[in-house]
Amino acid sequence: MTNPFNRTLLSLGFKLPAFSSLRRWMGDFNFTTGINPQIFEVLQNLFRDKDLKDKDCVLVWDEMSIKEFVEFNKSSDMFEGLVDSGDHGRKLETANEVLVFMIHGINFKWKYPISYYFSSHATTTEMLEVLVKENIHHVLKTGLLVRMGVCDMSFTNQGLYRLWGISKELPFYSFEDHKIYFAHDSPHLIKLVRNNLMKHDFVLPSSSNVANNSAKVKWNHIVSFFRKDHRTLSRMAPKLSNAHVFLKDFSKMKVKLAAQVLSYSVFAGMTAMRKLKLLKHDTKVTADFIREMDSLFDLLNISSYSRDKASRCAKDFYARITKFDTYIKYVSSIAIPTINREPDFIRGLLLTLTAIKHLALDLREEGYVCIYTRRLQQDCLENFFSAVRMKGGFCRNPSARQVRLNFRYLFFSHVMINTGSGNTENLTANFFQRFSEFEKALPLNSAKGILRSQKQTPPAKNSLNDSCNFYGIKYKRNLKLGDEQEEVVAEYLGAASIKGVLKIKKCSRCREMLINASDSVSATLINAKKYSLNSDLKCLRSDVSAVFKFSNKMYPKYALETLNVAGACITEDILKRYQEDGELRAWFQNDECSEHRIAIMRYFIRAKTFKLVQDKNGSIKQAKSWNQSRRDLRNQ
Ligand SMILES: [Zn+2]
Repeated sequence: MTNPFNRTLLSLGFKLPAFSSLRRWMGDFNFTTGINPQIFEVLQNLFRDKDLKDKDCVLVWDEMSIKEFVEFNKSSDMFEGLVDSGDHGRKLETANEVLVFMIHGINFKWKYPISYYFSSHATTTEMLEVLVKENIHHVLKTGLLVRMGVCDMSFTNQGLYRLWGISKELPFYSFEDHKIYFAHDSPHLIKLVRNNLMKHDFVLPSSSNVANNSAKVKWNHIVSFFRKDHRTLSRMAPKLSNAHVFLKDFSKMKVKLAAQVLSYSVFAGMTAMRKLKLLKHDTKVTADFIREMDSLFDLLNISSYSRDKASRCAKDFYARITKFDTYIKYVSSIAIPTINREPDFIRGLLLTLTAIKHLALDLREEGYVCIYTRRLQQDCLENFFSAVRMKGGFCRNPSARQVRLNFRYLFFSHVMINTGSGNTENLTANFFQRFSEFEKALPLNSAKGILRSQKQTPPAKNSLNDSCNFYGIKYKRNLKLGDEQEEVVAEYLGAASIKGVLKIKKCSRCREMLINASDSVSATLINAKKYSLNSDLKCLRSDVSAVFKFSNKMYPKYALETLNVAGACITEDILKRYQEDGELRAWFQNDECSEHRIAIMRYFIRAKTFKLVQDKNGSIKQAKSWNQSRRDLRNQ
């Protein structure tokens, strides 16, 4: 009851929906990778009667690394943690990156995560193009208007922009008759500016104040300012710390550290110290550069109408629109003699400034009176990622399953939190309206896997070699039934499956499949456990034992075939293959117990699948610790 959302509801006199109903609604929603028709259906309902301006939005996307960890999701009957591009198929490879798409209102403050995809290392440019287009297409179909796309300057993203011919001269791409601007995330750009400055000196056209022609912006100037400032008690730039100036690898990722270095207080401190003759005169160029960067990034970070420092207020945005041209000119004039080609950050800044300027001019034509440029950043995605990390107990790398659960949770909380306007009356009305629309949008029956099975693509013919190897499932066509170790496990799992079903269905006929003692070799494990634990473990009748031995032998083949099918339901698919297998005809024959035996086989398949995943994750861990110990050895 302590989170702000609950507090708001309570203060409005709401009775909160019971946890169980929330969970049911959420559970019914099939939040698989890729495009989920239900998400777009909900969005369509939410925005149906809204003004056109409410529908303007930005599409943002970014990748985050995830833990290589495969899990078997019993309710969707699928593996999680594999490379998965939604409708574009799955691969038998563990994923280590997740790509998330979100949309974010331009005129009103709302945001929704809309899709995610798992990949192994970064998504390729070709695939990214397909995914960005499919997301834009589906957003447009709901009636929302994508006006801008924003991403960081990763290799893949730059590749995509190149592919579409997006540049500062032409900062947009036409898609389905819509003009969509593309820019880069400004917090990423501020980090790039700082990182480049740490490595290279920047040369600016010499100003009249500096007689010296080779006036250079140097990181060293900032370091010497920090060294002097940091020794005094009353600091001029008290926020500056060792962490800002001597960066560790991880802190390079933090936007705040870059923003606080390139800030007005550092400019002011450096200027004061220069006037006191504590800093050399040539530090002026650096201080001036910092001032320019500070106000440039303020312009790209407008988040409030009037309650902030003047340069970060939206109030007179259009009066200051010429600022964009000023900074485009300023950034173009930065030269870095030690780099041959145009540095990324300059290209990125120029594209971003031009794209935002043109978008703002277009929007003014449509009646906008100001633009909150912070809404043209990836802010919302960064928050999403940190929420996912936080939910995983501050672990940096959540697993695929944690990503899915958080995606679902955050989608629902955004549906409930996002309000069209800040007005209380509307909030109440919206809330009920949204909930009822929401229920309407729900699939009638949570027939799990149905959506998935529609997406199934037939398995590639002959995709199985004689010795496929995936996660330690080795299928050898010539595997002999006599592999004793395998058979011992098969018999053990078989007996456990029968017992599992007998617990729920008291069936005397099925009970006869279990016998008290057996001296067959395959009963060794059961016998060993039986005596040590003094339990009521039973052995298998010999004909039943043969069934499980056979099923066990075929499992790898059928599992591999299943896993090659995009979005296949593992258990059900393997079960189907067993049912079609002539050798198992007797097991699946139609009589009063056939339902029981199907349930038993389902148990067995699930047990095998769980074991498979366990083994795989074990082997990832082993490989990691092995690499680690090798690294340790090398470092010694
Ligand atoms: Zn039965």
